[in-house]
Amino acid sequence: MSDYPMHPIQKMSLSEIGALFRRHRESRQGTGRQPTQLTVASRCYAQTRKGQACKSPAMPNGRCRMHGGMSLAGRNSPRYKHGRYTKSAIAEQRRLSALLTSANHNLKSMRGEQP
Ligand SMILES: [Zn+2]
Repeated sequence: MSDYPMHPIQKMSLSEIGALFRRHRESRQGTGRQPTQLTVASRCYAQTRKGQACKSPAMPNGRCRMHGGMSLAGRNSPRYKHGRYTKSAIAEQRRLSALLTSANHNLKSMRGEQP
């Protein structure tokens, strides 16, 4: 035997332990375990792939967590900082670079140098 004192539950009979767990389970009811707010929430009603209406509870935007819409992109994204690396900014940098390269070639050929 160990030197540790016995836990009170070790002295209980099985029926006493069962009663203890039943009391515990009953004490948990109505304390947030059951999502009662979700059962009364309005429904999503988005068309599912089965063609039926989605029955999931709706968020404030009227759709459920699966049908809430696409994530925000571009300027609407919370991660947007300055736009330096956006598709349009990169395309503009490439256009400008190509323009400068062709201007440099034209200048060299006008001077009679090899481009
Ligand atoms: Zn939905």
